[in-house]
Amino acid sequence: MQDRAATIASALRWFDAGHFLAELAPRVARRTESQRADARHDLVSYLEDEIGRRLDALGFAWRLVDNPAGGAPFLLAERHEGDTLPTILTYGHGDVVHGYDTQWRVGLSPWRIVVENDRWYGRGTADNKGQHSINLAALARVIESRGHLGFNVKLLMEMGEEMGSPGLRAMCERERAALSADVLIASDGPRLNARRPTLFLGSRGAFNFDLTADFREGAHHSGNWGGLIANPGTVLANAIAALVDPRGRILVPGLLPPPIPEAVRRALADIEPGEPEGPPVDPDWGEPELSPAERVYGWNALEVLAFRTGNPDNPVNAIPPRATAHLQLRFVVGCDPRTFVDSLRSHLDTHGFANIKVTPARGETMAATRLDPEHPWVRRVARSVERTTGAPPAILPNLGGSLPNDCFADVLGLPTVWIPHSYPGCSQHAPNEHLLQSVAREGIAIMTGLFCDLGDQDAADVRADAETGEGVSRAN
Ligand SMILES: [Zn+2]
Repeated sequence: MQDRAATIASALRWFDAGHFLAELAPRVARRTESQRADARHDLVSYLEDEIGRRLDALGFAWRLVDNPAGGAPFLLAERHEGDTLPTILTYGHGDVVHGYDTQWRVGLSPWRIVVENDRWYGRGTADNKGQHSINLAALARVIESRGHLGFNVKLLMEMGEEMGSPGLRAMCERERAALSADVLIASDGPRLNARRPTLFLGSRGAFNFDLTADFREGAHHSGNWGGLIANPGTVLANAIAALVDPRGRILVPGLLPPPIPEAVRRALADIEPGEPEGPPVDPDWGEPELSPAERVYGWNALEVLAFRTGNPDNPVNAIPPRATAHLQLRFVVGCDPRTFVDSLRSHLDTHGFANIKVTPARGETMAATRLDPEHPWVRRVARSVERTTGAPPAILPNLGGSLPNDCFADVLGLPTVWIPHSYPGCSQHAPNEHLLQSVAREGIAIMTGLFCDLGDQDAADVRADAETGEGVSRAN
């Protein structure tokens, strides 16, 4: 058996020889835009020809299973080494958002990887083809070096994540037995920043809603009627001000989470959010008692995403008949999204805004999930990352953004540990998306080291840890 350091070193040589880039390039070349109506053939062939063929060579058995929501199928795969060994479930999505081909910088294309210094440009390099390719490559390197893994692996790949993962939850319910595992270890989303390896353990939920002030038919001359009839824009602005103060502090008690647990505070104590190329963090924005990390990872945020009254592009001297605003609440574990509309309604009524309508936006509310940052699986993965990189990773109890993690945490009941290989400036979902070569290379080392460590550890330890672990907190 080759030792850990030698296996990592050989994985890095493999990366440096250009093999990873060669493996990723044909995956990026496939136009797997799930939001495109005629993409089905591309979506299925990504699973069969890019992923399935690779899995065959790695000794996985795999099959495509129907999507209960009618979308592209899912790929379920398994590499089984022994009934007494621990099993990890990993996940990836092979679909991407639209290419927006014409909007990329001159010389770049969404479907051809262009390397410029540390950046590998291409649609899906960061979200998510590059990330699941890193994990598959690391599994392959360990199997190649050692001849085996020392644990069982299951893989779930979907082709609809950018559409909100239609059918994922129902499929997980249906295939619960096939997906049973000890832990989910997967990669998506950004690190805290490019330099700091990161684990995140869940995600904030998202609840979108509209506020409407619809007062009358048609606009009325502001000279003849100004001072006589209520202005819906003015009333709606004041209604929003009753929900969130000028510093972004939420004023509706029913939209606030319970106090931040001590373990979460401890995990966030050394976390500094923000990115050199991003906007500067506003020090006096949000809940005043909290640190910036606690505000984005441990608390809820209410954002006004759009506000419209009259004709903003071409204002006229008239009192508009209606005003609308679209808001979003990002929320952490401990909030029940089913209570949000009632809380908003009674708060608005109490403050004199019975004339403002609250409507939940169409589309599903994303659930919030969070694993205890001191869960044994978190400690185990964090130790392994530290062994490889020489420094403890940042541990985010949950991502600020949202992921379909409730399917794994709630439906499958798994502890969930995400190891992202991208960074906040990757232009995911926009033109000029890119993966940082330095982060991908470190990701190969981290995952190879982790898979060595999971194979080396005593299966009995894992089981004992699983019994003492506090498990996953649930949102609903
Ligand atoms: Zn995405």
